[in-house]
Amino acid sequence: MHYPEPISKLIESFMKLPGIGPKTAVRLSFHVLTMKEDTVLDFAKALVNAKRNLSYCSVCGHITDQDPCYICEDKRRDRSIVCVVQDPKDVIAMEKMKEYKGLYHVLHGAISPMDGIGPEDINIPDLLKRLQDDEIQEVILATNPNIEGESTAMYISRLLRPTSIKMTRIAHGLPVGGDLEYADEVTLSKALEGRREL
Ligand SMILES: [Zn+2]
Repeated sequence: MHYPEPISKLIESFMKLPGIGPKTAVRLSFHVLTMKEDTVLDFAKALVNAKRNLSYCSVCGHITDQDPCYICEDKRRDRSIVCVVQDPKDVIAMEKMKEYKGLYHVLHGAISPMDGIGPEDINIPDLLKRLQDDEIQEVILATNPNIEGESTAMYISRLLRPTSIKMTRIAHGLPVGGDLEYADEVTLSKALEGRREL
């Protein structure tokens, strides 16, 4: 394949994104050539701005453009409940549901010995520090319903067992092996409602 250099660079860039293989990268790159220059500039600016202006909340680990994030700052939220999720996208899925009024803790991954990911490699030490706060009475373990998500939930529940904090796991009904972020609002709301105590 002999593309002029600017387009092969663009193809290479698209291929750095998850789920984009060579064919899609070529299709997207050629599509960019048909776009208006202003639209392309806005797109490029959006990429750079998102990277420059977003960081992770120092309290909960959610993506934010202010620290602490708007959820941690919101005084109307129930500070006695923390919902533990794997990914910032899960927070967004939960927020869309508009039923949950507690706080979050984003782990940025799950324990996976196969991939060499231990508890210290994800946001678990910060969670433990946070839970020393007496205000927190319930931790909802909303990690994904797959092997890594389940073992992460188990690990956290074992750590917290000696404390008086109530631990719950969101109900099954979420597709096994599926990610929380892809669950529709009704399924997610039922999973939350039917959470069981560990
Ligand atoms: Zn936060």
